[in-house]
Amino acid sequence: MTGHSDFERTIQFGEKAIKHLRVHKASAYPKNYELWYTYVAGYNRQLNQALNALIHDHGTISPEVMDQIYEDFLSPNRMGDRVEEVNSKFVKEFKVLMGALESASDSTSDFGNSLSSANEELTTATGSEQIKLVVQKLVSATKDMESKTTSLENSLAASRQQIDTLHETLEAVRTESMTDALTGISNRKQFDQTIEKEITNAQETGEPLALVFGDIDHFKIFNDTYGHQTGDQVLRLVAFSIRETVKGRDLATRYGGEEFAVILPQTKLDAAMIVTDQMRKAIMAKELVKKSSGESLGTITMSFGVSLFRPGETAENLIARADAALYSAKAAGRNRAFSENDVDESVLDSGSEISDVVENVA
Ligand code: GH3
Ligand code: MG
Ligand code: MG
Repeated sequence: MTGHSDFERTIQFGEKAIKHLRVHKASAYPKNYELWYTYVAGYNRQLNQALNALIHDHGTISPEVMDQIYEDFLSPNRMGDRVEEVNSKFVKEFKVLMGALESASDSTSDFGNSLSSANEELTTATGSEQIKLVVQKLVSATKDMESKTTSLENSLAASRQQIDTLHETLEAVRTESMTDALTGISNRKQFDQTIEKEITNAQETGEPLALVFGDIDHFKIFNDTYGHQTGDQVLRLVAFSIRETVKGRDLATRYGGEEFAVILPQTKLDAAMIVTDQMRKAIMAKELVKKSSGESLGTITMSFGVSLFRPGETAENLIARADAALYSAKAAGRNRAFSENDVDESVLDSGSEISDVVENVA
């Protein structure tokens, strides 16, 4: 939701970003502005880490380095570019490999020819000198073959290493594209893929599959009181608490804003409720302290909704029931976990916003 506080906050980010542009003597091009705006807002943890390290080592940051940081962390094309780069390297490596194999097969057939001609020569050879000559030819052909085989082995090993590196790069790009930059846990894209995969699996195996939706309580007030950056720290803390609670195949994701979704494969509703309550308690148990001043910010709470997969249904339906349960948990007073069986139908039918419902209830 926007409003006066968003206005103040973003203007402040803008002003701070301009200060950084001055310090580093950078032109206020949109790219440079975006870079420093992102930095002061703290939206991208890795970008901040990279810039902090550079500032620590060099004091100021040159325009070239700024361009590089932008390319590495912000450029909308960076994922595509990196995938493209890996792809063209793969193609190149493949050509090298095919070349090496072709020349190996040439030398193998050369060697075969040497062997058969030696065989012929031996059958017609009459004196020891002639035999000696044939044997010398064979020794040299074998040595030749040996050295070609060694060079083939070397180039195969080098290619293999190259391909392994490319594979790792591709994996890193994939992981990055599935990770939320602010909290470091999985993002919405990962959620969307995993929920489909787990639904297919639950459908095939008949194993249970639970879905948890969580939303921080009164987070807008928190942001308005302590600032958006402190709010962002809270999002990191919540993400950490949720990830700490789940294990194995479970997937903790930031669904968007201050909403989190957790996929619990092979988990029945009652077990999912227990895990969810552990998350809820872990979050409310954390006393929030502002690092810079040591000031206590109290605690925050979170509401949850949990649904269980019904064979044959879509992800959309499963999500809608978790969302409805969350909605009911909010309406019932927040800081609680509701399952799909706890949903208050009358609340849902009213079709009003959560905040309206709460005003009516409170
Ligand atoms: P409740 O959920 O208990 O009904 O109240 P709420 O105040 O949390 O209401 P709602 O979920 O609608 O508000 C979402 C707020 O979360 C709005 C915004 O201030 C905050 N928010 C969303 N995304 C971010 C983010 O990335 N960083 C920070 N700091 N705050 C965010
Ligand atoms: Mg919300
Ligand atoms: Mg909220």
